Amino acid sequence: MTNRAEKAVFKNNLLHLTLAEARHGLEEKKFSAVELTKAYLNSMEQHRHLNAYILETREQALDQAKESDARLAKGEGRPLEGIPLAIKDLFCTKDVQTTAGSHILEGFTPPYESTVSENLKVAGSVILGKTNMDEFAMGSANITSYFGNVVNPWKRKDGKDLTPGGSSGGTAAAVAGGLALAGTGTDTGGSIRQPASFSGVVGLKPTYGRCSRWGIVAFASSLDQAGPLTRDVRDAALMLKVMAGHDLKDSTSAQVEVPNFEKALDLGVGGLRVGIPKEYRLEGMSEDIMKLWERGKTWLKEAGAEIVDISLPHTKYSLPTYYVLAPAEASSNLARYDGVRYGLRVPGKTLDELYENTRSEGFGEEVRRRIMIGTYVLSAGYYDAYYLKAQKVRRLITQDFELAFQKVDVILTPTTPSAAFALDEKPTDPVVMYLNDVLTVPANLAGLPGISLPAGLSSEGLPLGLQLIGPAFDENVLFRTARILEEAAQFKSFLEGQVS
Ligand code: GLN
Repeated sequence: MTNRAEKAVFKNNLLHLTLAEARHGLEEKKFSAVELTKAYLNSMEQHRHLNAYILETREQALDQAKESDARLAKGEGRPLEGIPLAIKDLFCTKDVQTTAGSHILEGFTPPYESTVSENLKVAGSVILGKTNMDEFAMGSANITSYFGNVVNPWKRKDGKDLTPGGSSGGTAAAVAGGLALAGTGTDTGGSIRQPASFSGVVGLKPTYGRCSRWGIVAFASSLDQAGPLTRDVRDAALMLKVMAGHDLKDSTSAQVEVPNFEKALDLGVGGLRVGIPKEYRLEGMSEDIMKLWERGKTWLKEAGAEIVDISLPHTKYSLPTYYVLAPAEASSNLARYDGVRYGLRVPGKTLDELYENTRSEGFGEEVRRRIMIGTYVLSAGYYDAYYLKAQKVRRLITQDFELAFQKVDVILTPTTPSAAFALDEKPTDPVVMYLNDVLTVPANLAGLPGISLPAGLSSEGLPLGLQLIGPAFDENVLFRTARILEEAAQFKSFLEGQVS
């Protein structure tokens, strides 16, 4: 155990441990899974004002922790035995309400478990509850949730409440604030990496197909991907190992081997070529972020990497392409919420009226906007002009990356164009809100893996993330490069900031 971990255990501050440290502590019997779980349940109770959870599954968590202790006593611990996790409320959980942050799914209790959450359970983890999120994962600030916005544990110097980012903002706030040791998110256009960046935690979007989408409420099926939010890079490797794998129930999950990602962590970056795409240098991007990006380059160079300037010429079309394709797929996926089969039903005189009433009342404003845009771009007469065109541009964006990865091994960029904004200063123009995704969306369109790690603070004292993008199914290059950046950045997490 590291010095820091010894100290945390000694001070009985179990909330400060990383997943790897907690696993070690459990194996060494320094504390029990029930003690660890209770520490988290208490912390959740004390921080309900953050609104990170839609549902807490306290009894189930304690039962799982007891089972973990029994297994640990017999020396039969599984890979995540006794580790308390948060699950984004987009993952269906058997017999446990799953809402996707929407009124329309309020009260929906799935009779099945998503493959990813099942994998985590089978690995011995303890599920603390279902985390808050933007409705149907549409958003970048966690303000479209029917269950109210999430508050970032970080505060700006002026003391204002900040967004944790979105859509996986509940998990991000929980991991940052000590309300979960790690958790799951989903990323369709940035929803793991952007909240990770805003909340000072690590967030990984794996390659499309790396994790099964089965049992995850669908937003845009060709872009959605599950991934972990964690305290450090090693924990992301440990989580992904368990979450990933081919699944017969999802034909888009890839039949590729899941490597032992942890092994890549210590490979270093000697000889790696790191690409810096000039198109990610955005007009109006804050000085703090530009400086951090420069620092990231220096850190990698000092560790033996070669920095190479590259161009991804179609980057400027990413956002418009995404905001045609994602709503198109969403409008089709969300057609199933008709008041007959799931959750909310608002009666009407006729069947059509029942559909209309349920959908008008059940969906929030942003979701309705996306359905309208999606229906429009798919309608006869506009399909070719918008949807088909966007598909073609998506191909060009993917090709940009394919060409770039002939020259470099990994790409380094900032994660977001700004730090977390105050909840009362949120953009009211949806298009301004969409700009949050400008640096994360291209990896989704190309199906590539991306990681965000906290690497520094803004002048306001808020966390800023650096993003790494790798070739398909090469999460290992992300892990080894991210480890070097993490080591160099020595970022102090929210919880560490609390003790000093
Ligand atoms: N913010 C983006 C959107 O609103 C991405 C969301 C996501 O990745 N789920 O669509």
